[in-house]
Amino acid sequence: MADRETMEEAFKQALGNRVFECAVIPTSDINFSVDVLKACEANVCGKYNTCWTCPPVIGPMEQHKKKIRAFPWAFVFTTKGDLEDSFDYEGMIRAKDCHNRLSAEMHERFGKTNPVYGAGSCTLCESCAWPNPCRFPGKTIISVEAAGINVTDLSRTGNIKYNNGANTVTYFSMILF
Ligand code: SF4
Repeated sequence: MADRETMEEAFKQALGNRVFECAVIPTSDINFSVDVLKACEANVCGKYNTCWTCPPVIGPMEQHKKKIRAFPWAFVFTTKGDLEDSFDYEGMIRAKDCHNRLSAEMHERFGKTNPVYGAGSCTLCESCAWPNPCRFPGKTIISVEAAGINVTDLSRTGNIKYNNGANTVTYFSMILF
């Protein structure tokens, strides 16, 4: 496997100027908590137990912790979207789509050897096929939060800003290596 600097450079080059901030952090410094999954269980987004990339369908937190910690490093990256105001829901969706396209591109390029965790549930289909077989199993990305990782905590560990000011929205993804 290539060394840390080579991989970091490869990720940075692939992302180009579309990334807002990025950092490499040891996976041993990532905290996992079942409390994060309580937000999923509250089903605020309506995807709990209805999507192949969401809890509890993706399996227990410990399984993801083991998978993530099997890699020494996580390359964490963010994108920032500008909103007209704090009620600009369409702007938030646009920014999330933009972030998800970037994460999908990284998954396409590196995902065979380097798992990618993204932002939010899978939106590749208008309605998820679950419990029938996933339509695009090679393209799905599980979210950072669904793995039991608190994104605010992750931002502190990586010294990356979680909040980038009024009328902005920031999304997080990470690639393991
Ligand atoms: S690709 Fe479609 S079927 Fe598969 S997890 Fe995503 S939304 Fe569900």
